[in-house]
Amino acid sequence: MSFFDASYDSAIQNVYCDKTRHISVDIKREDQIHPLVSGNKFRKLKYNIIQAFSEKNHTILTYGGAFSNHIAATATAANICGLKSIGVIRGEELKHKLEENPNHNPTLSYAQQQDMQLHFISRKDYKKKDDTNEIKKLQQRFGSFYRIPEGGTNALAVKGCEEILSASDKKYDVIACCVGTGGTLAGIINSTCKHQHVYGFSALKNHNHAEIKQWVKRDNWTIFQDNNFGGYAKTNPQLIEFINSFYRCTSIKLDPIYTGKMLYQLFKMIEQNHFKNNTKILIIHTGGLQGIIGFNQQQSLKNKPCIEF
Ligand SMILES: *Cc1c(COP(=O)(O)O)cnc(C)c1O
Repeated sequence: MSFFDASYDSAIQNVYCDKTRHISVDIKREDQIHPLVSGNKFRKLKYNIIQAFSEKNHTILTYGGAFSNHIAATATAANICGLKSIGVIRGEELKHKLEENPNHNPTLSYAQQQDMQLHFISRKDYKKKDDTNEIKKLQQRFGSFYRIPEGGTNALAVKGCEEILSASDKKYDVIACCVGTGGTLAGIINSTCKHQHVYGFSALKNHNHAEIKQWVKRDNWTIFQDNNFGGYAKTNPQLIEFINSFYRCTSIKLDPIYTGKMLYQLFKMIEQNHFKNNTKILIIHTGGLQGIIGFNQQQSLKNKPCIEF
């Protein structure tokens, strides 16, 4: 449990400075919190795991896809804290593939090594996973558990993400963050000041703003969703080249699903003079680097370029 006791304030690193227009980009290195409970996943799990303990519930159950950062993070955090974990995984076919060859999916075999019990369900059943009936079936099978929704977003997750920004981050004009469910963005919005604007870069083609609205009290935010390269987890060689060259220049690793796409788009916006002179931008590095091994594996199978760190 002491794993979640510390209140982390991640390091900040400058990556860009335009000397004539005085536009600067700094990155808050939430990816450095832990290699596998990285970035926003640590923030989202913190109060949920504390809550599970206070309910004396020693099993965490959650959901995810084949390469889910949330599954890897939950498996690790539960293991560190001495809790059991169950991962309900989308796609029945993965079960057999993983049994035949554990290397087939590095994220899922890693989760198993962390003692997460994986429960594979069909894509059709996965769509219904939030129905009371489906949850009851899981309770009959596994007994009582503390349930965390897919992607880890709930009120306690948003509360954890309100701890990403600290008092010294008030000097920034723009805070930028990636958006999946939007739980992380919501926490950030709640902890900003009036003069700050929050930019959410959506990893999904059509983001449902209502999901974010239910968690926030302010309206100083905008979602950008034309930066996702055709949809969730879709990439192209240009994006991979950008991630590789960004690493060569800054020694900062980006992932191809969230942070890589955000920075690609943000630098395009700077080039297109989207920002006023003297804008100080703070990017939140939400982590997600565990997925790169599996991503590269898929890329090489398709003879496509890999991420080179
Ligand atoms: C999960 C994840 C996100 C999305 O977080 P949400 O709170 O669901 O919006 C962003 N970046 C990375 C690296 C992630 O793993």
